[in-house]
Amino acid sequence: MLRELAVGFETTLKNFFAPKVTIPYPEQKKPRAQGFRGLHELRRYANGLEMCVGCELCQVACPANAITVQAAENDPANPHSPGERYAYEYRIDLLRCIFCGLCEEACPTGALHLTQEFELSETSRKSLVYGRDRLVRAARSGGSVPVNVYPDFRGHRPLADIQASEQEVAGA
Ligand code: SF4
Ligand code: SF4
Repeated sequence: MLRELAVGFETTLKNFFAPKVTIPYPEQKKPRAQGFRGLHELRRYANGLEMCVGCELCQVACPANAITVQAAENDPANPHSPGERYAYEYRIDLLRCIFCGLCEEACPTGALHLTQEFELSETSRKSLVYGRDRLVRAARSGGSVPVNVYPDFRGHRPLADIQASEQEVAGA
């Protein structure tokens, strides 16, 4: 009995002085892995036109039936995208999504991108169905039709950056 007590106290003392493995979330956030897949975004070209051309390939690729795309013809005088069509309606049901990334891989224009955002809690099921208004990022900045001008890849962080953050957390 005394032996078991001593072993218990020894374990407690050892862990009491050991470096902490927990972090004070949400003030401090653990770095995500480089390939982490979180909330989707629909990107724009540098001139503000949407990269999505409403081809619906992401909808077909999605194994969870989480994506709904309805395309419409672009008005040549005021196009939404450089293609003939654009996504008039675009919805992702995050309650169905399994964050597999197949939609991102299927997208021929690189419009769809899974960011590292993961804090997606809401108070209703309806608000977890994201529409174009919440998925399309960055303000329009110009007018002319682009020739394959891709914006900076903003989601995945370089490995060195992640390692530096991990060291920072470990040293805190
Ligand atoms: S990440 Fe996977 S499950 Fe989620 S919308 Fe894309 S294809 Fe569908
Ligand atoms: S996000 Fe990409 S794959 Fe989906 S409709 Fe738009 S262009 Fe097509």
